[in-house]
Amino acid sequence: MCVRFLGKLPSVAHLVIEAAEALLDQSIPVLDKGFVRMVDYMGGDARIVQSARVSYGAGTKTFRQDRGLIHYLLKNRHTSPFEQVVLTFHIKMPIFVARQWIRHRMARLNEISGRYSVMKDEFYVPAADQVSFQSTDNKQGRADALPMEDAQSVIDRMAEEQRAVYANYQAMLDQGVARELARTNLPLNLYTEMYWQIDLHNLFHFLELRLDAHAQYEIRVFAEALAKCAQAVAPVAYEAFEEHIRGGVSFSKGECEALQALLSGQSVNLEGRPLEAFETKLAKLRLAVPAEPADELSAVS
Ligand SMILES: Cc1cc2nc3c(=O)[nH]c(=O)nc-3n(C[C@H](O)[C@H](O)[C@H](O)COP(=O)(O)OP(=O)(O)OC[C@H]3O[C@@H](n4cnc5c(N)ncnc54)[C@H](O)[C@@H]3O)c2cc1C
Repeated sequence: MCVRFLGKLPSVAHLVIEAAEALLDQSIPVLDKGFVRMVDYMGGDARIVQSARVSYGAGTKTFRQDRGLIHYLLKNRHTSPFEQVVLTFHIKMPIFVARQWIRHRMARLNEISGRYSVMKDEFYVPAADQVSFQSTDNKQGRADALPMEDAQSVIDRMAEEQRAVYANYQAMLDQGVARELARTNLPLNLYTEMYWQIDLHNLFHFLELRLDAHAQYEIRVFAEALAKCAQAVAPVAYEAFEEHIRGGVSFSKGECEALQALLSGQSVNLEGRPLEAFETKLAKLRLAVPAEPADELSAVS
């Protein structure tokens, strides 16, 4: 962690963090036409430590002690010091990604207005390897990619429709139709832009959900760019997030019973509960559900 202080040492007022400075104003490309650009940040690891220690009146200690404190805070869900770190982004994403994004209410945003501005002719077109079949075991997910030739025909169809719909939008504007009405015919894969500000606690919550393999690919790649920025601003906090939140596993009561049975060598009956989530958790522990009998668990050799 490289932190330069503006002002009188050992104050941690107005932190300037070199890794974060290097990323400021840099567009990180995402998908075919999108980006994440960190516009500003406030605070960093030192601010988390400083605010956590305020109750004891003690200042910053050694790096090792500060690191230990940050890990302790996150591990024990003492999250309010992480709210003292704030990041602001300029993001360009397809509208269907924005629809998922804005469900995260603990953030502040301002989005481009299609009533005020003419929307640009910019639509998301997936890469061929992302054109996949509907998953049969996950109703919200994708399965294998289509054969290349079929994927290309899907892409061509999408692009053709996008050209047609934008030509009609343009024609309506040329006719003098109000922008707020003409834009209602534009599809969800049109690109939009927003300024988005969030504190580190809520950004970690966003990342926990949207970096997950179950999140839609198109928002996951944006989450990866955000994670890069969070890591630059607060590397120790990010390390703690990877350790205690992303890298950790939590089991339900029923799963704990199943796990106890597994570890004591007994067969386990999950009583018809879905196995997929449990299997994913077990995989982190290098354990697996054997094929036969269906609900029996065993350690991976
Ligand atoms: C894989 C996946 C699939 C999803 N599928 C769907 C779907 O099919 N349909 C759909 O509508 N949404 C869906 N969502 C969105 C999801 O339900 C949440 O709205 C979204 O993930 C934001 O989470 P959040 O509410 O915890 O975050 P935030 O809104 O940022 O809130 C953070 C935390 O603040 C607290 N909080 C915020 N607002 C309130 C409130 N009004 N009352 C009480 N506490 C509050 C809660 O503790 C919350 O966890 C999906 C999300 C994921 C990750």
